[in-house]
Amino acid sequence: MYLVKVLNKDSEIEGCGSFAAELIPKGTIVFYFGKDEKYISKEEFASFTSEAKERLYKFGVEDEWSNWVIAKGDVNHSCDANILSLFVNGIYCEIAVRDIQKGEELTIDYGLLYSSFPWSMRCNCGSSHCRGTVGSGWPVSAQVQDQWNSRINAAAKEIFTVPQPLFSCREEKAKELARAVKSKKDPCVFPFIKFSLISK
Ligand SMILES: [Zn+2]
Repeated sequence: MYLVKVLNKDSEIEGCGSFAAELIPKGTIVFYFGKDEKYISKEEFASFTSEAKERLYKFGVEDEWSNWVIAKGDVNHSCDANILSLFVNGIYCEIAVRDIQKGEELTIDYGLLYSSFPWSMRCNCGSSHCRGTVGSGWPVSAQVQDQWNSRINAAAKEIFTVPQPLFSCREEKAKELARAVKSKKDPCVFPFIKFSLISK
């Protein structure tokens, strides 16, 4: 569920993308899994056809316990993404890692997502850092992990200095995430980024 104003329209990267409908400052938590997302338990997932599973590998996000969630809204991948994923006390969210101008497409790095069923695709992101083939559940180089880490940490330093829509969101799951974020004494240290899950 987005915490910022977003428009969905055709993307030059692929299909339909999500675009910022307002300036999103670096450090803004832009997305979390709320009540509007579709949750699929491990047991329910096991009953899916292989086609349905294939779709989930691509469009869903899996947690460590093999439960799944399908996010509302499409966000394209970029190897130079302007939002990145992190876990705060085990709660998933996405943070703007640089200022995102109104009208700019939101992009995330699919490589940060956990998957016990690795999949990959050719990347058309056009970034000078493009890795060519990307996906979830594949090992990534230490260099890429360092880049993610430094960008997420730099953005996390801004969490308490930018207007944070999360902190005024009344939804139960948002309040839980807000509590987790506020419990961090030092906002530049969020040690819950699950890099270990990517390379296992
Ligand atoms: Zn790329």
